[in-house]
Amino acid sequence: MSENIVTMLDQAAIAQRVAELGAQITAEYKDRPLVLIVVLKGSFVFAADLARAIDLPLRIDFLGVRSYGEGTESSGVVQITQDLSRPIEGEDVIIVEDIVDTGLTVAHLVDLLRTRQPRSVKICSLLHKPARARVHVAVDYLGFTIEDKFVIGYGLDFAERYRNLPYIGVVERA
Ligand code: 5GP
Repeated sequence: MSENIVTMLDQAAIAQRVAELGAQITAEYKDRPLVLIVVLKGSFVFAADLARAIDLPLRIDFLGVRSYGEGTESSGVVQITQDLSRPIEGEDVIIVEDIVDTGLTVAHLVDLLRTRQPRSVKICSLLHKPARARVHVAVDYLGFTIEDKFVIGYGLDFAERYRNLPYIGVVERA
């Protein structure tokens, strides 16, 4: 089976949008400290670029989540595989996601994090596929709305491959 990858969002388009999101977050939080909660694994590339586009006193923590198996359909089951390293009580936090698809994962994470009494919880996602929404999720900081295609690259995988592609693409089977 050979695979052909078609570019959906190239490096320049992503870099420009990430810079804009960073500037928007910097302006809205002014000089307040902020915690970025990076949802592993898919968000690690986006978060690395986003963090460097934010000019605030920033703390970064990681949350390991598994919502997909090896396939491409959401199970709706969210398993925490790695918890935050520190409490977030009283802190302003932004959950950094690669993609909001059905919305089940991020909705679950918001509920979970609220129980820890942060000052505020917002969502930043590079991508959003509204066609597949199963729960309503308000994405506060959104990179791109995309059509209903399974995307890879820039941190996103297909069976653990392609996370290192520097752009977002769609796999087409030849
Ligand atoms: P949701 O719970 O919103 O359906 O799915 C969220 C997670 O599913 C994302 O963080 C991501 O890991 C995975 N996911 C959803 N859509 C895609 C996609 O098009 N490509 C890849 N690689 N992962 C996806």
